[in-house]
Amino acid sequence: MTLRIAMISPEMEPFAKTGGLADVVGSLPIELKALGHDIRVIMPYYRGTRLKGLPTEVLPFPVGTYLGKGMEWCAIRVFHDYYDVPVYFVEHNAFFDREGIYHDNNMGDYYDNPLRFGFLCKIAMQLCRQLLFEVDVFHLHDWPTAVTAAFLKTWGRYDPVIGKSASLLTIHNMSYQGIYAKENVPDLGLSWDHFHRDIFESYDNLNLLKGGIFFADMVNTVSPTYSYEVRQLNHEAGLSHFLYRKGGNFVGVLNGVDYAAWSPERDPFIPANYSRHKRAGKMVCKRFLQRTFRLEEDDNIALIGTIGRFVWQKGFQLVARIIAAVLLNMRVQFIILGTGDRELEDFFRELPLRFPGQAASYIGFSNEVAHLIEAGSDFFLMPSLFEPCGLNQIYSLRYGTLPIVHATGGLEDTVWNYNEANGTGTGFKFYDANPEALYNTIGWAISTYYDRKEHLFSLIQNAMLMDFSWQKSATEYEKLYWQAILNNRERG
Ligand code: ADP
Repeated sequence: MTLRIAMISPEMEPFAKTGGLADVVGSLPIELKALGHDIRVIMPYYRGTRLKGLPTEVLPFPVGTYLGKGMEWCAIRVFHDYYDVPVYFVEHNAFFDREGIYHDNNMGDYYDNPLRFGFLCKIAMQLCRQLLFEVDVFHLHDWPTAVTAAFLKTWGRYDPVIGKSASLLTIHNMSYQGIYAKENVPDLGLSWDHFHRDIFESYDNLNLLKGGIFFADMVNTVSPTYSYEVRQLNHEAGLSHFLYRKGGNFVGVLNGVDYAAWSPERDPFIPANYSRHKRAGKMVCKRFLQRTFRLEEDDNIALIGTIGRFVWQKGFQLVARIIAAVLLNMRVQFIILGTGDRELEDFFRELPLRFPGQAASYIGFSNEVAHLIEAGSDFFLMPSLFEPCGLNQIYSLRYGTLPIVHATGGLEDTVWNYNEANGTGTGFKFYDANPEALYNTIGWAISTYYDRKEHLFSLIQNAMLMDFSWQKSATEYEKLYWQAILNNRERG
């Protein structure tokens, strides 16, 4: 049966992106459409989106909603050329024609984020009404859209068009909860009754994600293990109790990846293509990577690559602690691509000067270099302290670049640990996020490279066979939509 799905999101690749959430919203609707559903996406028309100069159709009517002290109006622009998925852009310049999505460079969050995104949510609901789009499920993403779940369960229930709509809230990273001053409660049209410690209140502030979790008919996060971790009592995100209460209505669904963009068979960024059966091209990529980044050109030395944002979550501070010892004690080369924390940038920028020919770094953002590292390395290091899903380790598997990961969240769910007894597995895991465990696991991977060639070969073969395509994830989401609809009916 065809479901009518309205996806409200603060980001969508290729229109606006800061993280993995944008990739999900860029890919999932295409697969849902292929499954026969009527899916539409509603998102802000940011300055960056406008500058892309997309051909859009402006709807012939304005859309307005009550916000703060009066009515706020906007225009709706529709983009019709995204794989048959209509994308509705909410054009409100005072809210969205700004330098950033959530904040300006080097400044904190925009103080009016609750109003900006509250407006997006209300307008999305109003738009569906005006289009007479009888939504079965509103699919919400992260704190910016979570409040929709509360609107639907309160004043939204009396609406003839969307009064029966259910909601699914997808949480891409529990660290971002949308915590703002409680003065926003009346401005958003929320009742003070809902400013309650079980609903929207956290330490006398408004916590948008928390309220969304309470009201949504279904909640999910982006890997089963992460969904388990954030439910544990001592989890730092601090919402374990409320997630636990959702019982079976809080689950984990792994993200898919875009194999059209990330496959060694057809990657346009790498000097030679290769596949599971014809891997010769991988050596060409390795040589090219070594030459480009002034590493000693040698087919027979283990090369470890890593990519990522230099933020606490990603664990590069652990790498900084042990990398000198790794380079001194093991026959190995190392390359890193990333930006973020200044101290880590400086550290990794200088590393090649300390270990010429053996270490390389690219401090910056480069998609092309990311592809080269995936293709040219033998191992891919991802020591994240926590990881809701993670993409790079999944790309690495497809490129036959064995992941070395901390067994957490999506890393735990997508990498299968090497078993020395029989050569099964797809990568190398460590269970304690500390420098010693990281050092030892790198050593384990390197010794496998030199001493157990036949196992190395079977690990690569297994890795390249793994399939984390979006088709699979989309059918999981379909089940969540149905569950949300049932839960909504039961709640009455
Ligand atoms: P997160 O979304 O938390 O940053 P993911 O592993 O889910 O982590 O996705 C990261 C994506 O961003 C990957 O596609 C990765 O290649 C890319 N990326 C991160 N840092 C860089 C960089 N410095 N240059 C190029 N791509 C990068």
